[in-house]
Amino acid sequence: MKQVPDTSASTCMTTEGALDRTSLSAMPNPDDLGALELALAVRDRLGGTVTAVSMGLERAEEVLRAMMARGADDAVVLADCRYAGADVPATACMVAAAARKLGAEALFAGCQSIGGDLAHVGSQVAEELGIPQVTEVEALVDCSNDGITVRRRKDEAMEVVKAPLSCLFAVRGTLLCRPENIHRLLQQRRRPIRHWKADMLDIDPARLSAAAVATGRVASEDTAHRASVQAGEEAKLSEEELLLQLLVPAGQPPSGGLQQAQIVVAGGYGACNATCFARLEELAALLGAELGGTRAAVDAGYLPHERMIGQTGLTVAPRLYLAFGISGQVQHTVGIARAGMIVAVNRDPEAPICRMADHVITGDAAEVAERMIRILKTCKR
Ligand SMILES: Cc1cc2nc3c(=O)[nH]c(=O)nc-3n(C[C@H](O)[C@H](O)[C@H](O)COP(=O)(O)OP(=O)(O)OC[C@H]3O[C@@H](n4cnc5c(N)ncnc54)[C@H](O)[C@@H]3O)c2cc1C
Repeated sequence: MKQVPDTSASTCMTTEGALDRTSLSAMPNPDDLGALELALAVRDRLGGTVTAVSMGLERAEEVLRAMMARGADDAVVLADCRYAGADVPATACMVAAAARKLGAEALFAGCQSIGGDLAHVGSQVAEELGIPQVTEVEALVDCSNDGITVRRRKDEAMEVVKAPLSCLFAVRGTLLCRPENIHRLLQQRRRPIRHWKADMLDIDPARLSAAAVATGRVASEDTAHRASVQAGEEAKLSEEELLLQLLVPAGQPPSGGLQQAQIVVAGGYGACNATCFARLEELAALLGAELGGTRAAVDAGYLPHERMIGQTGLTVAPRLYLAFGISGQVQHTVGIARAGMIVAVNRDPEAPICRMADHVITGDAAEVAERMIRILKTCKR
């Protein structure tokens, strides 16, 4: 599963005239979505699990989470600086090794990438594994434990082919993938994604280094480390460390609207008293955050309607979402599914929001807000 630049977004070039990938938003490669749909359709009929595998240091988790939101059961990132210079044979070698380690039976890949056009990675994976392949697949016709029957394009004609289960199918994006499902998106937020480095796979290291030398792209350990942290390695923070982390963006000007905000301080019914909301406002100002909240807070008169987040309110996607006294009903959480880190402050550690939060602070909303303000002010001095 490959992450490719979003071609509908405007592009930036580096001073060397190359595409500046860091400035681009990313999306799953269209043909890979077709592959995912075929895998899910086969699983739905025959059982088993679908594991999405992506190779790449940066933001690889993003594409995998999108795949899980569409139905994949599990995901693995092949993230190692030694992968950075991988050419087609090295990529195929690593993906094949991951498939072997997973004990995968049927393999599904996109036919072609709209990024770097490596239309033969799938074929080479099949070659590495010594299994047959069916390319240019456009639809599933039938499947049973005897094999999988697909329709494939053959120049101007169509061909129906029956292949054994142990086969690689290279699929076109014309096979439309089911959409992301909000319940799956919320469920898989906290599910760890496995990261496999080269030495966890049965690969001859000489093949990787030869590829890196051939392509002239050898990443440093440091780059790899930064990327793996960005890719979301689980970090357990103490409450104090968490509060100190809040200092990083503190003092930045408000970001120009709730929907664009990098940090959102949100209040719910559990924060509905004048003292607490005044503290949330002060905290938001110190953090350069926007204030929002639940329908219960709007109904209680502590927030204007245009600051309501959720199904009938706004959708937000901040880097940090601080939820004070919010229970986490789906009509609210649907509006924060794309938040980066969610911190729940609640008296009840069993509140539904605590299951989707990255960090939970059990306590009174007003008291925790006051503590945060005190720490921020002390550290700013
Ligand atoms: C059709 C429909 C559409 C809706 N659309 C939206 C929408 O767009 N947005 C939205 O938000 N809601 C919406 N709702 C309402 C939604 O279902 C919930 O009722 C609402 O989100 C609950 O808000 P809440 O979490 O603030 O309150 P509650 O569910 O009452 O939760 C309060 C929480 O605060 C905690 N708490 C209490 N006291 C304290 C304290 N002192 N310190 C810390 N924690 C404390 C409690 O443990 C509890 O978890 C909609 C409902 C319907 C039927």
